[in-house]
Amino acid sequence: MTRLMDTIGESVRDRCKNASLNPQEDEIRKCILRFFAKTGNPPTVKEIAEIVAAPPDVINQTIRKLRQADVLTTQAGVITSIYPFSAVKTRHTVVFADGHSVNALCATDALGVHFMLGEDITFRSLCPECGCEISIVLKGGRVISRDPTGAVEYAKARDHYGCTAETCCPHINLFCGRDHVDQWRAKNPAFSDGEVYEIEEAMEDGRMIFGEFLK
Ligand SMILES: [Zn+2]
Repeated sequence: MTRLMDTIGESVRDRCKNASLNPQEDEIRKCILRFFAKTGNPPTVKEIAEIVAAPPDVINQTIRKLRQADVLTTQAGVITSIYPFSAVKTRHTVVFADGHSVNALCATDALGVHFMLGEDITFRSLCPECGCEISIVLKGGRVISRDPTGAVEYAKARDHYGCTAETCCPHINLFCGRDHVDQWRAKNPAFSDGEVYEIEEAMEDGRMIFGEFLK
């Protein structure tokens, strides 16, 4: 049986591949990611233009191309998300060693940030069932600590093939434990046929999807 996360992961990586970015466009994509990681917010067109030394027209064109490929989203010309980051507050927060943080689109994306940047992170996530904070510390490609210890990931794609930042990521969450997944599923029958993953497994999904994202 194909794991749900393999399908989702493939679709995210395919989207970047299918965008067929030329080297400059890919550099712009990476610039947006690095800026987002460093500041917690997306760069403006002007900021990107200064960093990559390209005219704003080229930046705008590339943003349009990335949006069409469903790699990023915009609102009124401002970048609102780019895999794996969100400018809008989500229940998934990646905290870096110096204390600054960035919102991730989903739990797998947050775990993937560790591999995309090669930086130690603390991933804080709110359990959809009880609202309590779950904390996962990743160091050197390993889960160093987790609180609560029974925390798991639950993934449910609304539509495997139309998986986008809006439709898919809100349904890849961490829960305090399997009991809270079951309680939440009972209350949300439309999302009850998802899959539960151990944190290590979810972390490997993050590595598979985002490990090469900035290479
Ligand atoms: Zn909970």
